[in-house]
Amino acid sequence: VKATKKVSIGGTIFEPGSSVQYKTGEWRTLRPMLDKSKCTKCALCWVYCPDMAITIGEDGFPICDLDYCKGCGICAEECSLKAITMVEEVER
Ligand code: SF4
Ligand code: SF4
Repeated sequence: VKATKKVSIGGTIFEPGSSVQYKTGEWRTLRPMLDKSKCTKCALCWVYCPDMAITIGEDGFPICDLDYCKGCGICAEECSLKAITMVEEVER
């Protein structure tokens, strides 16, 4: 006997690049803070950010887009110069 089971339809994605539509920044409890005096503009934090929430500004310093940053702290962990620290998110 073949068992069957009805399941509801999962997430349906019709177009690529849909993650831009989902601003996941509200999940965050901690936010990254950059200390420019320690940053050497190596861009490793940009490489490691799993959400691609970091861009590099015209001055070469990383910029975190808080609409997408989930506050995972990987950027702070990977920065060997400790130029990024995670600070408590405050109510906006
Ligand atoms: S990893 Fe650290 S030193 Fe390198 S760009 Fe990011 S914050 Fe600056
Ligand atoms: S805390 Fe996580 S999501 Fe936010 S910028 Fe750093 S690595 Fe990216």
